[in-house]
Amino acid sequence: MTPTEKTKKGRVFSGARPTGRQHLGNYLGAIQNYVALQDEYDCVYCIVDLHALTTVESTENLRQNVYEMALDWLAAGIRPEESIVFVQSQVPEVTELHTILSMVTPLGKLTDLPTFKEKARQQPHNINYGLVGYPVLMTADIALYKADAVPVGVDQAPHLEFARETVRSFNFRYKANVLIEPQMKATEFPKVLGIDGQQKMSKSLDNHIELAATPEQTMARVMQMVTDPARMRRSDPGNPDVCNVFSLHKMFSSADEVAMVDIECRKAGIGCVQCKQLFARNLNQHLEPFRLRRNELDRNPEQVWDVLRKGQQRAQTIARKTMGEVREAIGLP
Ligand code: SF4
Repeated sequence: MTPTEKTKKGRVFSGARPTGRQHLGNYLGAIQNYVALQDEYDCVYCIVDLHALTTVESTENLRQNVYEMALDWLAAGIRPEESIVFVQSQVPEVTELHTILSMVTPLGKLTDLPTFKEKARQQPHNINYGLVGYPVLMTADIALYKADAVPVGVDQAPHLEFARETVRSFNFRYKANVLIEPQMKATEFPKVLGIDGQQKMSKSLDNHIELAATPEQTMARVMQMVTDPARMRRSDPGNPDVCNVFSLHKMFSSADEVAMVDIECRKAGIGCVQCKQLFARNLNQHLEPFRLRRNELDRNPEQVWDVLRKGQQRAQTIARKTMGEVREAIGLP
């Protein structure tokens, strides 16, 4: 079988910025889904380092961040013998397709996108050209690998719609059927709050729990978690419905334990310290096989880089074929 052939229900593409060691929010929101999709689809998972350049100001840790992220993906169960795992910039054809697609993209459409407006607000000192063209590069990522579907949450739906329209514009302009309109694979991404119990878990907010942390570090982090703010004393009854520890219990603790916390918290039968200890223990238990596998892979970094190199070769085979068709459709010499 060649990399250009599809064997399962179709091809799924997803990309993520190299943010280094992954946290619980990444795991529950994306990585678990990546792993599960492999059973049904040919998956292409890309570490989008070029996208990262639109916002990062220093590239000092970029290489290490790529490595750590790949390590986490592989340890979590992404199977490189089936799925294509690679780094975006190592297949430069994506930049060529990005340029070509930018010619069929009205500028106003890009500057109207809510995500662009938000980014421009966040970094008014650095509204660069790449930031405006980010959705075009994203479209190029998807179209280059002829993805049939892209797993997206509701908040990313406008981006995928943009990609579909851009693909249609290209095919219409050049009277060709070369690029595939990707379908939206609507996915429920649970919103995972950070240890502050307020904002989405994020490394930049330092409210995260790293997957690769030691059991002791995990326990210490869980102990810092904000609980029901109205529960001031151990003797006060709590409300698990507003407590982030309880939300996470539901994902990592047994049904019996969840039911016990639900009942006992409300009548102050369990204290927050004990409740957190139980959660941290279950989380550590759940992550133990991941951590063992990660440590094992980390003993031989070359093995991880080799996975990315092989992924690059397979991705590039598809990319070159697509670009041959694109160039022919346009009539480029
Ligand atoms: S006992 Fe558990 S669920 Fe209840 S408030 Fe404390 S940490 Fe939250």
